Amino acid sequence: MSTTLSPITSVNPATEEVLARFDPFTPEQVERALDEAQDAFMAWRDRSIVERAVPMRRLAALLRERADRYSRLITMEMGKPIAEAKAELEKCAFGAEHYAENAARYLADEVIETSAQRSIVAFEPLGIVLAVMPWNFPFWQVIRFAAPALMAGNGAILKHASNVPQCALAIEEVIRDAGFPEGLLRTVLLAGSAVEPVIADPRIRAVTLTGSSDTGSRIAALAGRALKKSVLELGGSDPYIVLADADLDAAAKVGARARNQNTGQSCIAAKRFIALEPIARDFERRFAAEVEALRVGDPLDAKTQIGPLARADLRETLERQVRDSVRMGARVLTGGERGSGKGWYYQPTVLADVTEDMPVFKEETFGPVAAVLRVRDAEEAVRVANDSAYGLGASLWTRDLRAGEALARKIESGSVFVNGMVASDPRLPFGGVKRSGYGRELSSYGIKEFVNIQTIWIGTPTAKPTGPAAE
Ligand code: NAP
Repeated sequence: MSTTLSPITSVNPATEEVLARFDPFTPEQVERALDEAQDAFMAWRDRSIVERAVPMRRLAALLRERADRYSRLITMEMGKPIAEAKAELEKCAFGAEHYAENAARYLADEVIETSAQRSIVAFEPLGIVLAVMPWNFPFWQVIRFAAPALMAGNGAILKHASNVPQCALAIEEVIRDAGFPEGLLRTVLLAGSAVEPVIADPRIRAVTLTGSSDTGSRIAALAGRALKKSVLELGGSDPYIVLADADLDAAAKVGARARNQNTGQSCIAAKRFIALEPIARDFERRFAAEVEALRVGDPLDAKTQIGPLARADLRETLERQVRDSVRMGARVLTGGERGSGKGWYYQPTVLADVTEDMPVFKEETFGPVAAVLRVRDAEEAVRVANDSAYGLGASLWTRDLRAGEALARKIESGSVFVNGMVASDPRLPFGGVKRSGYGRELSSYGIKEFVNIQTIWIGTPTAKPTGPAAE
C-alpha cells in the first residue's frame, strides 16, 4: 500500500477521510494476473457444470457468513446505507445459488434435426472475460456477471471502479475462499485510462462493462477494434408513469423508494415521474411527503435511508442539474440543497413543473433528485417516457392491468414493471436499449452472452457432404 497520491483511493464519503491508497498494478502485475487466470481457466473449462456448482454454492454460503464484514466495507467505501449493503450481499448469495442450480438447464445441448446423423448446438466457454465494473453496487454488479460467466466455464479479470479497491480485493478473496481454482477471477487495480492494453490482450476473449454511456462507447470502440464481443450495461433515466386510475398511495410510497434507493445512485432508479393531469397535484403532494420523511444520516446506522453520495464530483453534477433546471422554471417541492457539514450529502429532492428541455429530464440524475412532469393522457405519457436517450427500465402505475401491459409494450426500455419498482432479478433478463447499452445479464440470456455457441454436425462415416456441410 502506498502513501503517495494514487488514482486507486478509498475514501469514506460520509467523513471524507482517506481509508486506503493502493498503487495501480504495474504491467508486470497485470501480465501475471492474466497468466494465472488463463492457467486456471484451462483447468476449469474441463470441469462439468455439476462440479462447477460446488464452489458456486460455497460462495453463496460465504457471502452470507461474511455479510457483516463485507457490508461494512461497502458502506465505508461508497456510502451505501448499511441495511441496503446487507440486502446487496443477500442478493449476491441468491444470484450465486440461482446459477449453481440452473446453469446446467440453461446450457444444456440443443439437438436439432438436420441431414446429419446428429447435430447439436453446444455452449462452450469463451475464455477470460474482462469485467469493468462500477462502484454503486460494488458486490452485486460483479457477482451478477461472474456467477453466470464462471458457471459457463470462463475465467475473469475484474477491473473495479477506482473508489472501491477494498471491495474489489474482498471479492477476489471470497471467490478464492469458495474453492474456485486459484486465479480464476483476478482483480487488477487499474485506473480506467489504463484498461486499453488489457482489452487488446489475446487472452481476453470478451469485455463486459457496467458504467456510464460515455465509458460504454469508449470500451465498445476498443473491443470492436480488437474484434471482441462486448456487453454494455449503461446509464438510465427511467420513467415512472402514474396513470389517472393508479393507487396513488402505493405509487407515491414505492416511487420514493424507487428514486432514492442507494441514495439515488442506481441505473434503474425511477428518475422522470410522469403524472396524468387529473391526479398530478395529489400525486406530487403525497410523493413529496414520502420523500421528505426519508431519514438522512450516518450510513453505518441501520435506520438510515439516505447516505452521502459516493464522490464529491457526483454531488457537483447533481447540484448543477438542479440549479439549471430551477433557473428554467422547475419548482422545488422539497430539498434542493446540499447537506451541511462533512460528507457528500445532498437532500432528497422533488422538482415539479419539469419540462422536457431541462437537465433533470434530459440527463441522467445520479442522486436523490426526482423530476415530476404533468401530461394530458396515457398516449402523451408514453411519448414523454420515450423522449429519452436512454432505455433501461420503466415503471407504470394503473389498476387496469390489461391496459398496463399494452402500454408497457410501447415503451422503449429493457424492462417495464407494472405497479412495481424496477429491480434486477436473477430469473429475469436485465439490460437496456438506446444509450443504456446492449446485451443482457441474468437469466438464461445472461449466461449465453459469454459462450461459444458451437454447432457440432456429425455425419455417418461413409456419407457425402450435403446441406450445410457443403457451404
Ligand atoms: P464510469 O465512470 O463509466 O465508471 C465505470 C467503470 O468504468 C469504472 O470501473 C471506471 O474506472 C471505468 N472507466 C472509466 N473510464 C474508463 C475508460 N476511459 N476506459 C475504461 N474504463 C473506464 O461510471 P460512474 O460514473 O462511476 O458510474 C455511474 C454510471 O454507471 C451511471 O451512468 C450508471 O447509470 C451506470 N450504471 C449502469 C448500470 C447498469 O446495469 N446499466 C448499473 C450501475 C451503474 P475508474 O473508476 O478507474 O474511472
